[in-house]
Amino acid sequence: MRREHIRLFMRENLLTFLTIGGVILGIVFGMGLREVPAEGEKWSPRDVSYINFIGDTFLRMLKALILPLIITSLIAAVGSLDLSLSGKIGGRAVLYYVITTVMAVILGIVLVLLVKPGRGAEESNGDIGAKGEMRNVTTADTLLDLVRNMFPPNLVQACLQQYQTVLTPPKTNPDEPDLTLWTVGGKFSEGMNIIGLVVASIVFGIALSALKEDAQMVLKFFQQLSHTVMKITGWVIWLSPVGVLFLVTAKLLEMEDLGEVFGKLGLYFAVVAGGILFHGFVVLPLLFFLFTHKNPVQFVANMGQAIATAFGTSSSSATLPVTMQCLEEKNHIDPRVSRFVLPIGATINMDGTALYEAVAAIFIAQLRGLSLSFGNILAISITATAASIGAAGIPQAGLVTLVMVLDTVGLPAEDVSLIIAVDWLLDRFRTVVNVLGDSFGAAIVAHYSQNELTAIPVTEVTEKYQKNSLAYSAETVLFEERL
Ligand code: ASP
Repeated sequence: MRREHIRLFMRENLLTFLTIGGVILGIVFGMGLREVPAEGEKWSPRDVSYINFIGDTFLRMLKALILPLIITSLIAAVGSLDLSLSGKIGGRAVLYYVITTVMAVILGIVLVLLVKPGRGAEESNGDIGAKGEMRNVTTADTLLDLVRNMFPPNLVQACLQQYQTVLTPPKTNPDEPDLTLWTVGGKFSEGMNIIGLVVASIVFGIALSALKEDAQMVLKFFQQLSHTVMKITGWVIWLSPVGVLFLVTAKLLEMEDLGEVFGKLGLYFAVVAGGILFHGFVVLPLLFFLFTHKNPVQFVANMGQAIATAFGTSSSSATLPVTMQCLEEKNHIDPRVSRFVLPIGATINMDGTALYEAVAAIFIAQLRGLSLSFGNILAISITATAASIGAAGIPQAGLVTLVMVLDTVGLPAEDVSLIIAVDWLLDRFRTVVNVLGDSFGAAIVAHYSQNELTAIPVTEVTEKYQKNSLAYSAETVLFEERL
């Protein structure tokens, strides 16, 4: 009997074990292969690109799923709820996002003020030029761009590009330090405008639900499309163990001398990583337990694969298909909630990033010997929250929006180069916690919306969605009985 149990457990969680194994093997191979070239030499970028090939192919497949997944799941989920219920579910989700993001920021600020990693730390100059991403922008411009991107003028273009304010210095004084005196213009830059597509899909879903019977066919079309995309996701997910293995190995081979990097920024790294992990693996699980009375350890274990993929890809958007699959198939969250709140969460809710932005800005201020007033710290916490909302779910997006937080205390954009050396690794930790935060949020919202969801009459269209909702209630009862 016991053996039977173990076999069943292994079979059900095989992919999770394999994916986590992939990350561990990736670290082992990466560290081992770093030693292969002769002393002082490195793997050539060409060799690294060959090793990265399989990981990159896996990433391409995940990225290909983002667009169809976000659009179909949002339209299908919002369309199948009535207006007041989608308002309630959306409201609960946003409340959860705001509260947990602010909690993360406060935790980060307390830690960085207590540990003071910037005092006495040496400056390390990363190669900011190589990234070439640092723009001159003011906080107001960044926030306005976020709102502008919510309302894209052309939906086809939104699949490819997003709007960005561009500032140009006055002709008479090209070195003008005050950005508010620069000319304001705009351009479309490469990259999917996810927030615009999220807003457009929600509006479309609301319209479908307002039309009721008159739009049943369209709703059904999107629901079936959404199931189809999830089916494909289920296949792609089987590649994740190999995909993350190669992604992690290649990243480690690319890195400069690891010892040197951590020597200089060790304490800063420890504060950010410690804070992020504490928030994701202690604070959020506690909240989850308090609100739902469900077992958080089991919940996190069921998300194992999404966690490993987030670590491997550094992108919460690319991980979204996996997150959705784990949440629905393993944690049995009602798809009407997960498909509604997860795409929004993956775009705007980033606890890990928020904590990091606050710590990084204060760390740089400490390094520069700047003393911060209470007002400065308050300004940092507000902009860190906004910067995490504005950051896209792509690798190192947080580093780019950090410029906005630095701006509030008068630090120049170039100062991000001080922390760039460890950012690739911190990014992986933030992405893991960003994904976990979205998942806990979906579960808590589903718990509070359970009665309203089961009250919706079962129609042919909603039948499949109802099943998960019932499974979820049954599990909660079981767990509560055990308590
Ligand atoms: N890479 C992170 C994410 O995708 C965003 C960040 O840079 O903090 O969630």
